[in-house]
Formats: sequence, structure tokens, C-alpha cells
Amino acid sequence: MKVYKAQVLTYCLMRNFAGSDILSTKDLTREEIEFILSRAEEFLPVARKQKTLNLMEGVVLAALFYEPSTRTRLSFETAMLRLGGKVLNVIGLDNSSVKKGETLYDTGKMVDGYADVIAMRHPAVGSVKELADGAGIPVINGGDGTGEHPTQALLDALTMKLERGGIDGLKIALVGDLKNGRTVHSLAFLLSRFKVQLILVSPKQLGVPEEVKEFLHFSGIGFEETESLEDALKVADVVYMTRIQKERFADPAEYERLKDVFVLDRALMEKTGSKATVMHPLPRVGEINNDMDDLANAAYFRQAQNGIALRMALLALVLGR
Ligand code: ASP
Repeated sequence: MKVYKAQVLTYCLMRNFAGSDILSTKDLTREEIEFILSRAEEFLPVARKQKTLNLMEGVVLAALFYEPSTRTRLSFETAMLRLGGKVLNVIGLDNSSVKKGETLYDTGKMVDGYADVIAMRHPAVGSVKELADGAGIPVINGGDGTGEHPTQALLDALTMKLERGGIDGLKIALVGDLKNGRTVHSLAFLLSRFKVQLILVSPKQLGVPEEVKEFLHFSGIGFEETESLEDALKVADVVYMTRIQKERFADPAEYERLKDVFVLDRALMEKTGSKATVMHPLPRVGEINNDMDDLANAAYFRQAQNGIALRMALLALVLGR
């Protein structure tokens, strides 16, 4: 009877994802996150080319990427193509009617007729929601300016689960440009559903936005803020490095001053005795030295590969497959 009750509760806390947009990790319950991660694990053999699966025959993904992307766009495309579906692409603002002044709402209404699901990236916060309001098909946020990047946070969580055996109990250091880094925002919202402790490591002017802090407070997540990567390394189980987001700086001199504020290399790992799992949403631009790459706990390239299985799972869920 106890098991039955638990099942009913889980069912109530879990929406049916078919037809849903994925815009923010704030919208996801712990049960939904765990469900997505376990579906993603089932897709790992397909993502790793050990198995084929023709789940998406006849399905079309529209990948609307109005801001630069390598991993997110390619892994969405790979996910759809390897499952037997097809992909339409818009790359860059210059190549679309948005440049002519078309609203994102109207673009959403149009693409609705061309594709079955949309993955989108855009430089403005809230832009993906605007397009989703016009589109009747599911829309997945692939990054909206300094706002959020929910699929990255989900693949980060999948990586923590695979590398550390679970998320509860971890002490996680989020390092770098916590103000402008959208992956950090989505990851903090997601981690607040688990029993973790966060160490927020940034220069004062690049600290995590108030909205994120309030969410952490409200969720009862313990966190501390520091400017010392060294101190964080001494205690963290996971170190999540991020780059200083050059394109978000109004003053280039300010960027130059801050860009090398944190550099993680083998010497620092040895000095602090850190055995932390090292993650990064990539691209890295100097904050993780190449001499780290051979360390067993350097997980950032495995992390990027996990994005394929995670995006396969999300596509399958929102398309009800
Ligand atoms: N690729 C990630 C993003 O699109 C991280 C970064 O660009 O620094 O947000």
C-alpha cells in the first residue's frame, strides 16, 4: 500500500510532458527532473552510437539559433537526426525575418506550420517565451540572453548523476561569471530541488542575480559566496567553471580586467588536494588549463556528450513519443 501511495504522489507531481514547452528549470519539480534524467540514461546507448532507434521518423525539428552556438545546436540536431527525424535551421539574426522586424510571436505562428518542435536561442531574455506564445508546437529554450539555458542545466545534472552516482549530498562550487552566465541560473534553480550545498565563487561585480538568490533562500538551499576559488576547491565535490561572458560587457576594459580572474590548472588542484569533479558548459576561454584534460575527474567533454542523450529524451517527451 505504501508503494501505491508513493506512486500516486509522484504521478500528481509530474505533468504529462507531451505538448509542453521547456522554458525554465524553475518550472520543473524534482520528480520531473528525475524522470527526465532517467529517460536520458535510457537514450545513452543511442547517443553513443551503440544502438539505433527510429523513434522520430517523419518528425521535423526547427532549430532557430539567433545567437552563436556549437554544442547546443549540433546536439539538438544530432539527437533528432540519429532518431530518424529531420531538422530545419535558421542560423543568425541576419538570415531571418526577425531582422526585417517580424515579431517572435509571428515567427512562432509561422514555424508552427513547418515543424513539429522548436529549439531556439536568442540574445534577449524572455525571447523564447515570446515565440512560444505564438507557436502551438512545443518550444525548447536553448538559451535566452543572460536569462536561462534549461537543457544545459539538465545535462549538467545528468553528468553529476553519472559522475558522482547522485546529486543529493553534493557540495557544488559554481565559479566565474555568475551574473551573466545563463547556465548558472538554470543550474541553481534545478539544484534547489535537491539536498545540496552551493558555493558561489565570483568577483563581487559578477555575483549571482538577486532573483536566483531569493529562489535559493526560498527553497532552503544553503549557500555561501566567496571570491576564492582556492577555498572552494578545498571542500567542493563538484567544481562548475564558467567563462567570463565577454559579449555581455558594456565596457571592454572591465572585461579585460576580469577575464582571467579564475584559472583552474593541475597545480591548483594539487595545491588544494582537490578531487572534485570538474565541469564546464563550454566553450572554455582560458579558465580551465589544457593540462587538466587528462585528469580522471575532468568531466567537461563527457558532459558535452551527455547533451545528446538528454536532448533526445526531451524531444521524445515533449513530442509524446
Ligand atoms: N554554451 C553556454 C551558453 O550558451 C555557456 C557559455 O556560452 O559560456 O550559455
